[in-house]
Amino acid sequence: MSVSASAPTAGSDADTVVENPVLGQVGGRVPDMTAEVPALVRRARTAQAAWGARPVKERAEALGAMRRWIVANRAVIVESTMRETGKTYEDALFTEVFVLADSIRFWERKAARHLRDERVRGRGPLVLGRKFIVRRRPLGVVGVIAPWNYPLTIGLGDAAPALMAGNAVVIKPSEITPWTTTMVVDGLVREAGLPEDVLLVATGRGDTGAALVDHVDMIMFTGSTRTGRNVAARAADRLIPVSLELGGKDPMIVCADANLDRAANAAATFGLGNCGQACTSVERIYVEDEVHDEFVDKLVHAVGRLRQRGNTSAGAADVGAMTFPPQLEIIERHVADALAKGARVLTGGRRGDGPGFYYEPTVLVDVDHDMDCMHDETFGPTLPVMRVRDTDEAVRLANDTRYGLSSSVYTRDTNKGEAIARRIRAGNTAVNDGYIHVTGWDAPYGGSRDSGVGARNAREGILKYTEPHTIMITRLAPNKDIGWLPNSKRITTLLGRAFSRYYSR
Ligand code: NDP
Repeated sequence: MSVSASAPTAGSDADTVVENPVLGQVGGRVPDMTAEVPALVRRARTAQAAWGARPVKERAEALGAMRRWIVANRAVIVESTMRETGKTYEDALFTEVFVLADSIRFWERKAARHLRDERVRGRGPLVLGRKFIVRRRPLGVVGVIAPWNYPLTIGLGDAAPALMAGNAVVIKPSEITPWTTTMVVDGLVREAGLPEDVLLVATGRGDTGAALVDHVDMIMFTGSTRTGRNVAARAADRLIPVSLELGGKDPMIVCADANLDRAANAAATFGLGNCGQACTSVERIYVEDEVHDEFVDKLVHAVGRLRQRGNTSAGAADVGAMTFPPQLEIIERHVADALAKGARVLTGGRRGDGPGFYYEPTVLVDVDHDMDCMHDETFGPTLPVMRVRDTDEAVRLANDTRYGLSSSVYTRDTNKGEAIARRIRAGNTAVNDGYIHVTGWDAPYGGSRDSGVGARNAREGILKYTEPHTIMITRLAPNKDIGWLPNSKRITTLLGRAFSRYYSR
């Protein structure tokens, strides 16, 4: 293994400065490659021709080599990820290495089934007896615009099915977290045998992403709803398809009959994991009145004992740093707004100590829907808890949002849980669980309303990187079929009668 986790440090003024969130200081620089995007896409387009022509089985073997390389190099990947994101050791190892490896393995095994030709019989009267083949053709070059919260799992995780479908991919990592992606893609080409130019990286800022939209054949974007709208509008100009995974304000409902220990531990895990910087984080909690106080006691206990620090080793911390410093101001604003409107902080509620970008894991109570923390995405380690009369009120409030990504319901009665889940307008709902459903690769994962368009995983998650090409084959092919030009009164009358009878039945 010859990759290293040292930060790239080029030196032009146009370079993007990357901060180390644990130390709270500049960690290195990466070049702004905006001007190179057209040439990168041309290179990818050339490489795609041979890659897309390979049998799916061969592409699966190449992905298998990628997966094994990633797992073999996990130590250096974890170190690099911790340095640029501020994640804990566990967040880096499990979500950036093993979840990614699991998703790649899924596509190695399942892509062929989703990509194979479909044979359809012609059944309408005009195509009777014709044979139809629907093949899935790669789109060409896919642009993956990745965010800073899961640079590898999202960036490479989205690239994997696009590659399996026969596309070349250019990834634009977030300017906040470009190192690990650059290092891994370099290693995959140099050491894992991935063909040259099939997977490329374009570092830079928002302009680089915008340039990518202007040149590729499809965009997979993950990030804020605001930028997602801009990306979709720009893609609409070029009539290229987009898939958008955007923000969320995921509700958690705790019913009176829930296992309150599990619910409190789940809120801490799925609300504070990755320091709350996940689009599928628990962002607001509704608890039925009769168990509200007991749940809050358990939650404060679960949250209060968490250890926060960055650059960790196995088991040394539970919550890391904030990756993106402006996020600290959003959290402070939401907490201050809640306190000004009558909420109380039971634990946390302030920036953490140290030079790094920390915000303490926080529990807020006495919140309501007039507060920013209950309707705008916080994307931080805060858990606002609201008391509700009953599950009807909880469902009404859960749906009182412009977002619709994930959601969860806790109850010992799983039939009731499913019934409540069916009333929630979101792309995903877990009963008695957190957002691990994102790794249920056979089920689609996507957002509703302002949370996005399109889905990851399953059939939807790979067919979006293809276009259907329908081939119709006519075996019985005389000189002329009935109904072909020129028209004749006799044929028109006969067909008119036959069709009238057929469609009136
Ligand atoms: P953005 O939506 O601005 O960025 C996401 C990605 O898009 C980054 O790679 C970014 O590049 C790129 N980008 C920025 N502008 C453009 C553009 N005009 N055209 C094409 N690509 C562009 O997210 P932020 O990093 O600013 O985070 C802001 C908010 O987004 C957070 O507070 C959070 O609410 C939400 N978010 C949601 C995520 C999710 O998983 N759904 C992930 C991260 C953030 P660059 O970083 O270089 O500017």
